[in-house]
Amino acid sequence: MNPALRCHRCEERYEDPARVRCACGEPLWFESDAETFDWADCRERDGMWRYESLLPIDRPDGIARAAGGTPLVRSERLDDAAGCRAYVKDEGEQPTGAYKDRGSAVAVPHAVEAGGGAVGTVSYGNMAMSTAAHAASLGRECVVLVPDDIPPVRLALIDQYDPTIVRVDGDYGALYGDALDLSTRLPIAILVSDAPARISGYKTALFEICEAFAPDAPDALVLPASSGGFASGIWLGIRDLEAAGLLPDPPRVYLVQTVAGDPLTRAFDAGETDPTPLGPDETGETIAHSIGNPDPPSGARALAAVRDTGGAVVSVDDDEIRAAQRRFAVDGGFCVEPASAASLAGASRLSERGEIADDDEVVLIPTGTGFKEMGADGASVTTERTTRASLPDRLASLLDAA
Ligand SMILES: *Cc1c(COP(=O)(O)O)cnc(C)c1O
Ligand SMILES: [Zn+2]
Repeated sequence: MNPALRCHRCEERYEDPARVRCACGEPLWFESDAETFDWADCRERDGMWRYESLLPIDRPDGIARAAGGTPLVRSERLDDAAGCRAYVKDEGEQPTGAYKDRGSAVAVPHAVEAGGGAVGTVSYGNMAMSTAAHAASLGRECVVLVPDDIPPVRLALIDQYDPTIVRVDGDYGALYGDALDLSTRLPIAILVSDAPARISGYKTALFEICEAFAPDAPDALVLPASSGGFASGIWLGIRDLEAAGLLPDPPRVYLVQTVAGDPLTRAFDAGETDPTPLGPDETGETIAHSIGNPDPPSGARALAAVRDTGGAVVSVDDDEIRAAQRRFAVDGGFCVEPASAASLAGASRLSERGEIADDDEVVLIPTGTGFKEMGADGASVTTERTTRASLPDRLASLLDAA
């Protein structure tokens, strides 16, 4: 199997499977033979490998087999907060707790197949954990480039898979460009957010959602966006299913950003096809640290996905994100990280604006679990307190009051 790569913008085609960027500058994605694809052809494969025929590699060994197959839950009690008929595609239920595993499950084995050498990534969050876990399960050396001031708890999360962790002092944002260059000069494949094989893996989230709704489709999808990689994968999935004739009425793709760093929202509002990178004075602090890339490498492709499907991009602030995170847990039973809670906060905004109607079937995509960070704020939790002897009476009065 050796599928070609294509540019979403200028349609240029490349045969070199190691190529990541088009001559025009845009990131590439893999083609697949989607025209002949049908749901009936999907074999009973583990998780996302159900759609193996549309992926650029055969099902690999290792933890990659556990990626995908996440639950899609109709969650009536979230309807009020979301302003629609809410479904939740819980991407926190992946081997390392984030949708990134769909991408790593394809990109890491793809790089391993391509030859010797290490794999690596530039991340101190979910991308780092996911890449390190997949490399570990294939017995491949992994190098993770992190910022020098990385918080210790994140270091511990990444370190459990025993990659070589390199703290890099300097402009961490600029490392993305350096990484592409290092991959061509050293025996290492640095798999960042827009590695074409990752985007192939991400499209399986869309396949799982659409197969669950088939022959209908949800009215809309709402997901957080940062680099635009996941949004690109969702769009590639939509294009595949359209080519297969399985998606007559594709869902509108809505992306949610944080006001602390929202180049996609700004570009969307300004009617621009390409985001303008944000300067240091245009970004701020946020609890949603998985989103807020000031210079999203797949930004143009994410914006094209939104426009092509009739969606929009919105930004939410930390207060809205905190409230949505609480609603996810209290009304839905989902533990999601702040960036993921932005999906619900964004849906609220969109329904206020009239973009989403209350009878629309909308799939919220919380991209990552909240379990990784829970506990840091334990001091502010309200509890009851009693002795063992007085517990029965205390409990009786609490249950009375409830
Ligand atoms: C990486 C990540 C995002 C952002 O995805 P992009 O592909 O960079 O747009 C959102 N949520 C979580 C939990 C993530 O880990
Ligand atoms: Zn191009």
